[in-house]
Amino acid sequence: MSYTGPDLDPPQQRRPRRGPLTVALAALVPGALLGWMVYEAVGGGGTGGADRTASAAPTAGTSAAPSAPAGTPAASAASPSASASGSPGDDGKEPGSGPLKGKVVVIDPGHNPGNFRHTAEINRQVDIGTNRKECDTTGTSTNDGYTEAEFTVDVAHRLRTLLEKQGATVKLTRDGDSPAWGPCVDERARIGNTARADAAVSIHADGSAPGDRGFHVILPGSVHAGAADTRAIVGPSHDLGVRIAGNFLRETGEPPSNYVGGGTGLVTRTDLGGLNLSTVPKVFIECGNMRDSKDAALLTSGAWRQKAAQGLSEGIVSFLRQS
Ligand code: ZN
Repeated sequence: MSYTGPDLDPPQQRRPRRGPLTVALAALVPGALLGWMVYEAVGGGGTGGADRTASAAPTAGTSAAPSAPAGTPAASAASPSASASGSPGDDGKEPGSGPLKGKVVVIDPGHNPGNFRHTAEINRQVDIGTNRKECDTTGTSTNDGYTEAEFTVDVAHRLRTLLEKQGATVKLTRDGDSPAWGPCVDERARIGNTARADAAVSIHADGSAPGDRGFHVILPGSVHAGAADTRAIVGPSHDLGVRIAGNFLRETGEPPSNYVGGGTGLVTRTDLGGLNLSTVPKVFIECGNMRDSKDAALLTSGAWRQKAAQGLSEGIVSFLRQS
């Protein structure tokens, strides 16, 4: 979850609806998504949304969802039991010596397990450029109590290991149980900016209604207000997001969301501080819906989280190697 609910959001400045911008993902992610045509989801996101709790009626669009191609690369099966905090690379490479040497990736594991005990702190309003908003939120959990905050940091650790094997310098906005809460969304953005990240990814899982399934990648919309100016990052963030969506789909087999994004797995939003305040290419991903039993079974599986990290890594690597 990235915010507590639509009722807390100010009226959205509705962006003009674009005609379908068709992008052949196959051109960007060779072999991954042949035939899956992606178009920009309706911008603004005031009604669409990640992390809402149970308000969205399922939308049509599942028919547009691609099925995962058969023949998932063997790489996705690699070390599903790898420890969260980093196993040594198979190839013995140290970070900084691979093809991504010199590239900086900031991974933002959404929320913090301590947020539940620090409600006053996380409810403090911070400036996100367009308006003020809670510092952070608790995030959601599965019905069995596996929290989004645990999920996000586990995937972040797996992703860090994979990216460091490629030589990238990786920084997390939070790690383990430190700090005790947060950081606030403005600080999460600032960490990516200060690091001059070549790519930044905020990892989440959604808390929508049972039956709502699938992943979606959230792209920054164009915002220019107060401290927020995303105009320079909209294009590269879109590229990053499309690459992540395609690779995530291929590695995990998780379909694009059936409740936002019209089956594309892509949603553009202008109400998230973590995106509005970013000056580096950045996207969010909602890896699945923790409140759906089928998605929850995946999200609670270490083997599946390894595939999720693999898909994220491949999307990021693809983005960084062409830039
Ligand atoms: Zn979240």
